[in-house]
Amino acid sequence: MLPYRIGYGEDAHRLEVGRRLVLGGVEIPGAERGAVAHSDGDAALHTLSDALLSGLALGDIGQYFPDTDPRWAGLNSADILARCLDLVRGRGYVPANVALVITLDRPKLGALRGEIARRIAELMQLDAGEVGVSFKTSEGLAPDHVQARAAVLLVWA
Ligand SMILES: [Zn+2]
Repeated sequence: MLPYRIGYGEDAHRLEVGRRLVLGGVEIPGAERGAVAHSDGDAALHTLSDALLSGLALGDIGQYFPDTDPRWAGLNSADILARCLDLVRGRGYVPANVALVITLDRPKLGALRGEIARRIAELMQLDAGEVGVSFKTSEGLAPDHVQARAAVLLVWA
């Protein structure tokens, strides 16, 4: 039994006018467009949830929370993350640190780095210093999407 496991996740949502943009549990002020999604479309929390599951080869959130199931319509992504964290903890592991990359052309997110890191830390029972958050733009290659990628280190607790 390895004392460490690495998890990795990716997620993307199309952006559309008239929707909220929520990333890492933080509603982004000044966003002209938000994520098209069955749930709240929080690409960062979906990515982290998938990363947790992948670290223990537990599949992906599409299996646990299929978007065809009306039970999950409008489900708060923080609840999805909490359920994935429970699955990981139930197998004896806890997250040690997180590296998250969010790719979004507009608005710029740099001023929200601390708030997003603190919120994710709170949700994942980590210190903010254990949540690395990087922001990238697509350089105009994917202006209609928000994307997130994350690696999570799990340790046997
Ligand atoms: Zn998603």
